[in-house]
Amino acid sequence: MPHLKRMPAVTIALCLLIALAVLMIHGFQGTPRSAKQAARLTAAQVTAPPVGSSTPRFGLGLCCASQANFGTDYVASGMPRTAAPRAVAAVAISIAAAGPMRVPILMYHYIRVNPVARDKVGADLSVSPQRFSQEMQYLAANGYHTITFDMLAGAVKGTVRLPARPVLLTFDDGYEDFFTSAYPVLKQFGFHATSFVITGKVGQGGYLTWDQMRAMQAGGLAQFESHTVNHVEMDRISLSRAQSELVNSKATLEMQLGTQVKYFCYPSGHYDSGVEKLVAKDGYVAAVSTHAGVATGANNIDALPRVRVHGGESLATFAGSLGRPAASTP
Ligand SMILES: [Zn+2]
Repeated sequence: MPHLKRMPAVTIALCLLIALAVLMIHGFQGTPRSAKQAARLTAAQVTAPPVGSSTPRFGLGLCCASQANFGTDYVASGMPRTAAPRAVAAVAISIAAAGPMRVPILMYHYIRVNPVARDKVGADLSVSPQRFSQEMQYLAANGYHTITFDMLAGAVKGTVRLPARPVLLTFDDGYEDFFTSAYPVLKQFGFHATSFVITGKVGQGGYLTWDQMRAMQAGGLAQFESHTVNHVEMDRISLSRAQSELVNSKATLEMQLGTQVKYFCYPSGHYDSGVEKLVAKDGYVAAVSTHAGVATGANNIDALPRVRVHGGESLATFAGSLGRPAASTP
């Protein structure tokens, strides 16, 4: 380079020295930390609680969770501003997953006054509208929060943090009184519920119509999942027929309601290992059974236990059933 030849040797040497110094400074300040170092630092920043504070306040997810849900008093909202948001989310999720999961999945059928007094089965399946309203009032007054199946499945995987006192409301068979008697009460309390629909019965006398389901779904509090096409006991039919019950009920619900159907309810609680495998294979995330008990993280997600709400049971019995798992029944 001609102009370099014209520069004195001292000037060139000075330039080289300055360039070397700049490189060294940049090298020391700009060298990225290893991923492990960065993660350790971020976690330490996030999990260090501010002095004098022990209130569990999370900047992510639901804000009403109690300390007991997590077994920790970490304060994520007190984190330094330098903490990366994605790393914060990962830490918060892992803390949430550490807490024990206990979710009573309540099982209702009819919300009605049993029309035939001598029908004992019908009486057991029928919770009166008045008692149902009292039960929902009890849940609201005692700090229960209705959750969705998506939240439950997320909690099982450790990706969703549940609110304090979670409870899941389910209604089997898709009876019309879910619309006429249960839904007005659910709306009153802002409670979420899942109705398991027998798609072959929709629109028949005493059963929900598609329009009623669409109207409730639009309200954001009710969702509709599969309870087969024909309410057949799944362990007493061939696997190919079980397959068509699973696939066709799902397809009909999805076509009529425009939602993704991910949850299944075994009619009369009947299933076997072959049916369980089909449930997972056919795109269902979870299924509920009639095994009695409160759902925990230890349960098989393809046969979750539920708490049956009996017609005529006292409010004290209802309250007691929420708090402790009952013995399993076949
Ligand atoms: Zn049923």
